[in-house]
Amino acid sequence: MKQAIIIGSGFSGCMFAMMLRQKKWNVTIVEKSKIFGGGVRTFFHGGHPYTYGPRHFIGPEKNMPAFEFLNKIVPMRHIKKINLSYQEKDDFFANYPIHIDDIKKLSDSKKIFSELDNLPKETKSKNFEEFWIGRVGKTLYERFNKYYNLRAWQIKSNTEMDYGFEATVKRKPLETGPRNEFPTGYINAYPTNKDGYNKFFDVALEGCNILLGKEIKSVDQDKLTVHFDNEQLKADLIISTISPDFLFDYCWGELAYVGRDFYKIVLPIKQALPDDVYFIYYPNENEQQTRVTEFKKFTLHKSNNTLITLEVPSMKNKLYPTMIKSQVNLANKYLQSLPEKILSVGRMGTYRYVDIDDIIMQGLEFKKNL
Ligand SMILES: Cc1cc2nc3c(=O)[nH]c(=O)nc-3n(C[C@H](O)[C@H](O)[C@H](O)COP(=O)(O)OP(=O)(O)OC[C@H]3O[C@@H](n4cnc5c(N)ncnc54)[C@H](O)[C@@H]3O)c2cc1C
Repeated sequence: MKQAIIIGSGFSGCMFAMMLRQKKWNVTIVEKSKIFGGGVRTFFHGGHPYTYGPRHFIGPEKNMPAFEFLNKIVPMRHIKKINLSYQEKDDFFANYPIHIDDIKKLSDSKKIFSELDNLPKETKSKNFEEFWIGRVGKTLYERFNKYYNLRAWQIKSNTEMDYGFEATVKRKPLETGPRNEFPTGYINAYPTNKDGYNKFFDVALEGCNILLGKEIKSVDQDKLTVHFDNEQLKADLIISTISPDFLFDYCWGELAYVGRDFYKIVLPIKQALPDDVYFIYYPNENEQQTRVTEFKKFTLHKSNNTLITLEVPSMKNKLYPTMIKSQVNLANKYLQSLPEKILSVGRMGTYRYVDIDDIIMQGLEFKKNL
C-alpha cells in the first residue's frame, strides 16, 4: 500500500487525508497541536459553541459540488446574513456591502453622491487604494476600506497591496435590494450540528494514523522524509498544509503573514447584534478590532447569555498570507521548486486566500487525478 504523510490537520489536511484513504492509501497525519481540525474546529466556552473567526461556508455557486460534498457528512443550513460596518463619524451602523439607503443617512452624503456621479465608468488601478477609489470614490473608500485594510494587514500604506488589484476597475453600483439577499450568486451556510464541522474531521480521518502534539521540524525533500522529536517518517507522497518556505528551511527568506488574537466575551443578554446580523466590521481609524462576531447567529445555540468574539490583528500567529506581489512571487518560487512528490495545499500551503469551499474543491480535484 502506498504511504502518504500529511503535515497539519486543519481543514485541508483532513480533506486530503480523506481523498487519499478513499483511494486506499495509507495515511499518517502529523499535527503539532493536541487536537485536529485547525482553525475550523468548534470549541465551547461556557457551553457556547464557537470557532476562531466566523468560518461559515461561503462560496460562489460554481463551488456547489463542495457544498454538496460537505452537506452529506455535516448537514448544512442555508443562512441569510447581514454584515454591518460601524461608521463612527455618524455613530451609525451601515450595511456592508454598501447600501444606497445608508449613504443617504451619512453626514457627508452630498459629497459622496457627487464623487460617485463624477467617477469614470472605468479606470485602471495598480493597487488596493486605486482600486477602491475607482470603485466607490475617495470618501467611501476612506470610510469603509482604508483604515480597515491598513489594520487587517498591518501595513503603512494601501498602495503596498499591489497583488490582484492591477485591473480595469468598474465603478461599483451601490446595493439597492433587500439587505439579507446580497451578495447574490453565493452559497452561504453553516453546519446544523452543535459542534459545527467537527464530525467532518472525525469522518475524514477514519482509518488514518493520527499523530497529535508532534511538530514537524524539517522535511528532507530528496528522501521524502519528515522529522519530528527524535523520529522520522518516510513516504511515497508528502502533502504539506503549512507555509512553503518552511519546507526549504526559509532559504530565500521568510514569507509574510498576519495573524489574529481572539477575545471571547460572554454577555448577560440573549442577543447582542440585531436579527440577521452575524458580524460587524470596524473600519474606523482608531479601533483595534477588525470584526465582532455573535456565534449564536451561526450555531442557534440556546442560552440566556450570548458569546461574542473580537478579532484583533496580531503578528503572533500565521493566518492570512500577505498577498503583495513581492511575497506572492517569493511563495511561487518556493512552490515551483517543490519536487513532484511533495504537494503544498490549503491556505498557507498555496499562499492564497482560499476558503473552506476552495479547499474542498482542491481535494475533489486531487482525488480525480490520484
Ligand atoms: C480568522 C479566520 C476566519 C475565517 N473565516 C472563514 C469563513 O467564514 N469561511 C470560510 O470559508 N473560510 C474562512 N476562513 C478560511 C478557512 O477557514 C481557511 O482557509 C482554512 O481553514 C485553512 O485550513 P488549512 O488546513 O489550510 O489551515 P489550518 O487550519 O491553519 O491548518 C494547518 C494545521 O497545521 C498545523 N501545523 C502548523 N505547523 C505545523 C508543523 N510544523 N507540524 C505539524 N503541524 C503543523 C497547525 O497546527 C494547523 O492545525 C477563515 C480564516 C481565518 C484565519
